[in-house]
Amino acid sequence: MSTYPIRVYGDPVLRQRAREVDEIDGRLKVLADDMVETMVAAPGVGLAAPQVGVQKRLFVYDTGDGGGPRTIVNPTIAESDGEWTFEEGCLSVPGLSWPIVRPRHIHLVGWDLDGNEVSIEATEFEARVLQHEVDHLDGVLLVERLDDDQRKEALRILRARALDLSGNDPDGLAGLSGGERRRPLDRR
Ligand code: ZN
Repeated sequence: MSTYPIRVYGDPVLRQRAREVDEIDGRLKVLADDMVETMVAAPGVGLAAPQVGVQKRLFVYDTGDGGGPRTIVNPTIAESDGEWTFEEGCLSVPGLSWPIVRPRHIHLVGWDLDGNEVSIEATEFEARVLQHEVDHLDGVLLVERLDDDQRKEALRILRARALDLSGNDPDGLAGLSGGERRRPLDRR
């Protein structure tokens, strides 16, 4: 097993819709194993294939409920309802997080690595992780889930960061990230 570098905001691979997986084979299982290792090392609670530069519709996640890491292939959110606000972060937008409203409950269907159909009823945190990862497969980053004011501020910070090639912290980003490590989504 090995880990991948995680692609970050600005990488075009994060903005494309990933393709359906045609075949669940040994190569896909190796990819999933490496994605789990990458997620654990980050550390995170979810990781989608585009985040490691692979344009395939699968993600791994582990909410820490004791069930261990799971891989979902070709997921679809069949139903969603309710509303829930949660401070959400992303391994591809490191150090930042925002309160984001999403459905509280979802029904997700897809496939596991043995080719069996899976059907997951998830609420609150687990539902949040699953929705976040499906967004990645559609090329949607959490920045696009923000309201207009939040998005303006986020883009200002991300642009400043992209310009900051020296590794300095002119915008006080270190201070921001301090608060955000409390409960970011992709991270434990
Ligand atoms: Zn993410």
